[in-house]
Amino acid sequence: MKKIHVNLSANSYNIYIDKDLLVKVGEMIAKGKEPCKTLLITDENIGKIYGEIVAENFRQNNFDVKLLALPPGEDQKNIENALLLYDHCFAHKLDRKSLIVALGGGVIGDLSGFIAATFMRGIPYIQIPTSLLAQVDSSIGGKVAVNHPKGKNMIGCFYQPTAVFIDTNTLSTLPSKEMVAGFVEVIKYGVIRDAELFAFLEKSMYDIFQLNHEALLKIIATSCQIKANVVEQDEKEKDLRAILNYGHTIGHAIETITNYKKYRHGEAVAIGMLYASKIAIELGLTDNTVFERQLSLIKNLGLSIQTGLKSESIIKALYTDKKTISGRLRFVLPTKIGEVIISDKVSDEILYRILDNPL
Ligand code: ADP
Ligand code: ZN
Repeated sequence: MKKIHVNLSANSYNIYIDKDLLVKVGEMIAKGKEPCKTLLITDENIGKIYGEIVAENFRQNNFDVKLLALPPGEDQKNIENALLLYDHCFAHKLDRKSLIVALGGGVIGDLSGFIAATFMRGIPYIQIPTSLLAQVDSSIGGKVAVNHPKGKNMIGCFYQPTAVFIDTNTLSTLPSKEMVAGFVEVIKYGVIRDAELFAFLEKSMYDIFQLNHEALLKIIATSCQIKANVVEQDEKEKDLRAILNYGHTIGHAIETITNYKKYRHGEAVAIGMLYASKIAIELGLTDNTVFERQLSLIKNLGLSIQTGLKSESIIKALYTDKKTISGRLRFVLPTKIGEVIISDKVSDEILYRILDNPL
């Protein structure tokens, strides 16, 4: 088992990573918390496979568990479902010492975290992320939210969990497209902070997709550690945390103009990382190998990298992103594998030139 401590003074917590954690989590929590009323939130896909296993494990440790499964999908992350979940909190008589457990991907994690953050001004919650994306990204860092018709994650706050339990076994049932999308975020961590991780991905892609436990443990723990370090230094995204947006500036623009329908988040980010690398080369910040190495990893994942989108529409979407600061675009650009800088010196002219050419 790997344990990563996320040091956020009063809001510190641990991330535990191992196989078979789903049948240990109740016991582990019971060591530090009196058994209590617990709302276990999941989606129907995950609930069918793992819901009862986890619920039973909590019950064996005297927690009074109510299991609730929402339909799967990003559009479930809405305020109506938040209201429904508050009703369940009241019906199950949760109080400020009760527990919310999020068992699922990013959708369930963000929504359950939002409920935990707001019900009675905040009650404890545990994350059990089951998708690779949630395990390496959304379950760490305390961003919780629901979507609004005006945009994704527009209603939310920062709220840290009590602990995160990552069971690598859950990846055995994750659809391969989701596995690939999560893997892109791992590539991202390699590029922004860890050349050794990047080299490991190049060497071990086969083992990772065969779900070799040691390989999974390494990539998940390393990713969590990198994100934890960044979040520790900049919990509320004032500066450093922005490096986690590598590939996301253009990635978000691509997701927005295709209405979040055509690409999984990770697929759009992969394209965004390649464009960001092209921009960095154009500005003389780095050389072509940085691009080529990422391209080769991304191609091996079977992702298509041509969007057929017009540069004009991508650039327009870039300027309406909520992360734009006083009308200036900020890009996270690689200087080498393992290091990035943040730049607001990317001109529209460069953008047109890069986006008008195929990758
Ligand atoms: P993400 O984690 O990518 O932010 P979701 O929460 O929507 O997004 O999860 C992606 C999809 O994968 C959903 O359909 C979800 O039900 C499914 N899923 C997540 N984890 C697992 C798992 N371990 N086994 C099977 N399906 C899973
Ligand atoms: Zn992302």
